[in-house]
Amino acid sequence: MILDHPNLYACPHCESIISTLSWMSANTFNGILYSDGKAVFPHCPEVPDLTKCHHCNNYLWLSKISKIELPENFRKEAELKSKKAEFLSTEDLFKAIETGYIEQGEMLFVRYSIWHSYNDRIREGNGNLFKDLADEKRWQGNLNELKKLLDPNDQFHILLTAEIERNLKNYNVAILLLNSISVENLQDTKLQIIEACKNGISTVFEIHLTKINNEEHSDSDYVED
Ligand SMILES: [Zn+2]
Repeated sequence: MILDHPNLYACPHCESIISTLSWMSANTFNGILYSDGKAVFPHCPEVPDLTKCHHCNNYLWLSKISKIELPENFRKEAELKSKKAEFLSTEDLFKAIETGYIEQGEMLFVRYSIWHSYNDRIREGNGNLFKDLADEKRWQGNLNELKKLLDPNDQFHILLTAEIERNLKNYNVAILLLNSISVENLQDTKLQIIEACKNGISTVFEIHLTKINNEEHSDSDYVED
């Protein structure tokens, strides 16, 4: 990966400077795909769009703020003053919804992110999906809301709905949904989620892509920013 100057943003509330990584070239080789649709690429860093100002704590979509363009000598000083944008924690994602900052059209992304942030606890080897009973109830509430936002006519969304049902241990519902998926590039994931349902496994897991799919994904996945 070849890095470029970081992107700089000024918080619209307090003018603190927030930065995100920027790169001239990166690639998605050796990507890891999970059953909940999350993909992790070791050679292509993920940059948050929804974040929180480190100074005034307001939630911000960076894509809604213009980048600061500065001449070289001023840019260095601004870079030194800046703080890197962080991904929101599970708690902050819930709070961003509760405060009314998230608009309806953005809700699918945020509820999907909440789901993934719970599953990250398993991905990071924590072992426990929930901190306590209240945490579990919030998780369940989020999944129920997320299901309502998914499109029943979109095969990838059907796969995500099935995966949510598997997480909720509704294995038969999940299998029924999965059997309705016919598109070729979802077959690996579909069959492995069905297998997990049959074995009574409800937690997120890594999808093993077959050779054919690996070839399909590798050559074209060259990302530039
Ligand atoms: Zn601020």
